[in-house]
Amino acid sequence: MERVILVRYTEIHLKGLNRPYFEQKLVDNIKTALCGIECRIEREHGRIYILGISDDSFDAATDRLTRVFGIHSISPAYAVDKEWDSVCFTAYMLMEKELEKRQKASFKVFARRSDKHYFMNSDMINRELGHLMLERFPALHVDIHKPEISLSVEIRDCAYVYCEEIPCANGMPVGTAGRATLLISGGIDSPVAGYMMAKRGLILSAVHFYSYPYTSERARDKVIELTRLISRFAGPIRLHLVPFTDIQMTIYDQCPSKETTIIMRRLMMKIAERIAAKEGAKALITGEALGQVASQTLESLCVTNDAVSMPVFRPLIGFDKDEIMDLSRKIGTYETSILPYEDCCTVFVPKHPVTRPVLEDLRASEAAVDFSELIEKAIADTELMVIKN
Ligand code: ATP
Ligand code: MG
Repeated sequence: MERVILVRYTEIHLKGLNRPYFEQKLVDNIKTALCGIECRIEREHGRIYILGISDDSFDAATDRLTRVFGIHSISPAYAVDKEWDSVCFTAYMLMEKELEKRQKASFKVFARRSDKHYFMNSDMINRELGHLMLERFPALHVDIHKPEISLSVEIRDCAYVYCEEIPCANGMPVGTAGRATLLISGGIDSPVAGYMMAKRGLILSAVHFYSYPYTSERARDKVIELTRLISRFAGPIRLHLVPFTDIQMTIYDQCPSKETTIIMRRLMMKIAERIAAKEGAKALITGEALGQVASQTLESLCVTNDAVSMPVFRPLIGFDKDEIMDLSRKIGTYETSILPYEDCCTVFVPKHPVTRPVLEDLRASEAAVDFSELIEKAIADTELMVIKN
């Protein structure tokens, strides 16, 4: 008898001839996620099996797999030989464990077999095993529609027996959609935006602008920690830390006060695009949501977009703040995001920012100041860290 983890994936079934490519990426990402845990990964007929995990590492492996994009669900299972007695013995053992958690329970046996030569078909297994369970455990009764316990038996090259199906992160395997660059602040929104795009198969790199000494060392550590939390799902992330103080001071000295935020946003986008292009990223990602603040009105977003030619993905565009906060709690970034350290966007906020900027005016205000040298210097002084969980 061996403990194994069954891994199910769904959406990648849809990919036709590309399917082997998607499956291979998923297996590679599982390997990365399980790094340091000894195991074997096998792939067979639309399933992945993780075998040879020691008891000590089993829970850690299960936990890590729940965050691998592309996995629909997993089941910790026992793999046993197909002898009927072994199947029954394992089913008894599992059910006993389940019944430790409750006094009474409804259950159902859910059998499948890909081995069509097995001496019983699925229906017979369901009936026979159901009957044996009822005989052995008086606390059980059958409910085929909404059972509290689903006892699954799969007859393949061996028999897999399990009761648990753990929902996972879904989405597409990271790396199947190319690379994009996330503009990450220390706020609530951008980490969620990064999570959402990695979920669609993008490899993330990240760019963060800081304005030391107006923003603190702790604000920077917070961004590093947020990046680490996203990397639990997205895999290793190249994080570029861009010194932004000189540019920000110049904006505040030389540009019209009400336009400072939007000019700052444009320059951030320009620098991020340069860094993105250097490492082969084909899009930028931000945490903007329509109408959330002055710099996120439709007019402001158009003016921001005008600064770059790469597509800008804004996965949160139609989300309410509440919805974003819920998601950030779910992915585990919320508690870090609300730590009260300043972001460079929150220092020197103008009292009356434009909410309907006119593109020509903004272009003119920006062109009146020569930012080119400052931009080159910021890029040259950018620090790169590779963040892994
Ligand atoms: P967030 O919660 O992500 O900070 P926000 O609602 O506070 O978003 P803004 O501060 O206006 O909105 O920023 C809008 C977007 O610009 C952010 O979601 C992020 O993508 C990007 N951004 C803001 N500040 C920074 C920064 N210091 N470094 C990199 N990107 C930033
Ligand atoms: Mg912010």
